[in-house]
Amino acid sequence: METERPETGAEFPEETARPEGTPDTAGLSPAEEESPKKNTARDPDRRPHKKRPNGNKRRRAARRKAADRTMAAVNAVLLLLTGIALALCGWAGYRYVSFSPETYDSRVAELTAETDRVREDIRALEESLEEENERLRSDLALSGEEGKRAAEELSAAKAENETLLEENAALKERAEFLSDIRNNTTALREEYAGKIRRLEDKIVAGESDVKICYWSFDDGPGLMTSAILDFCEENGVYVTFFTSREANETGKGDVDEPALLRRETMLGNSVQNHTNSHQYSRIAGNLYTQGIDSFREQVRLQDEWILENTGFKPDIFRFPGGSAWAYNLIPKEELLGALDALGYKHVDWACDVMDNLHSNPDAGIVYTRATWQIKQIDPPIAIILSHDWNINTYYGFMRAVPAIRDMGYIFLPLFSQSWAIDNTVIRFS
Ligand SMILES: [Zn+2]
Repeated sequence: METERPETGAEFPEETARPEGTPDTAGLSPAEEESPKKNTARDPDRRPHKKRPNGNKRRRAARRKAADRTMAAVNAVLLLLTGIALALCGWAGYRYVSFSPETYDSRVAELTAETDRVREDIRALEESLEEENERLRSDLALSGEEGKRAAEELSAAKAENETLLEENAALKERAEFLSDIRNNTTALREEYAGKIRRLEDKIVAGESDVKICYWSFDDGPGLMTSAILDFCEENGVYVTFFTSREANETGKGDVDEPALLRRETMLGNSVQNHTNSHQYSRIAGNLYTQGIDSFREQVRLQDEWILENTGFKPDIFRFPGGSAWAYNLIPKEELLGALDALGYKHVDWACDVMDNLHSNPDAGIVYTRATWQIKQIDPPIAIILSHDWNINTYYGFMRAVPAIRDMGYIFLPLFSQSWAIDNTVIRFS
């Protein structure tokens, strides 16, 4: 603006020389500018003795003063505008860096809504996680129960298996024990039979006063077998049973034949073979009238039955009807050959109490025949024939035993090693 001045500074040395910031006379009021007293003292142009400028000069001065006032006004306006601009800039800046309450509330509302959404998402996620956790816990618990059940079942199976193994071991031990028992018992019986044989040899040689009675019961087990065993057990009497599974003698009774076979054996008696069928009839029997093969089969069947039920193989055979009867129907060589092939010796009897169906004696007769026959022949070793299906025989036997003992006899079981096997002949029949 100052550059718009048309006049040069040479005409206004005081103006151009005035330093910035010093008071500008252009700002003075027109009254002050027009005061003649004041201007007289300082303005040399107004000194009275000085020649007044001409009219052009006064006009230029007037224009200069008007210009000065205009410039002053413009400067004032510019200053005002500058202030206003600065104020506007400050206000705008403030507005720019600050929030209005509305903006703040809106922003808070947005943030609150966002926070609520985040919280909702978190809550949903937590619920989802909780559900998943619960499901996993349930699965784990279920797995645990199943595992527990499986473990219990496994434990029970193991316990059962152990029990079965223990039972199996016990059974094996028992089987071995029984096998040993059989072997040992067979050996003991051999030893026992050998001792009896040595006693027999002494008796036959006259070196002992002891006499032996081999009382035998044929055709059983029968109706009186159990009672006879009771008596024998109570009185230390040992006898010999020539058994026949199908002997059809009257009085056989409904008895447990295998159990009786075992008891006969267990009590130390001798259990031997008297054929399976016992059919020795000359007309219809299968022992002697149907050939040697039939006879052999009937011996074999009885042999098998005794071994199965007692554990001992029998080795003494008694012919149903006696050997003499058999030899009349089948040659003796064939019969003895068949018996030998099956591991048998045979024996008859020395005394017969004749307690058969035809005579059917009472107990007194049985007793009398037993004791009288022994007394008559007075053998050092006697074999007596009777039948354990006959009740009269049972009572006669109980009476005869003490009487025969009084004659110096002891009652022993008959084994195949016995001297009597090869030296007994039928004396009474
Ligand atoms: Zn018989």
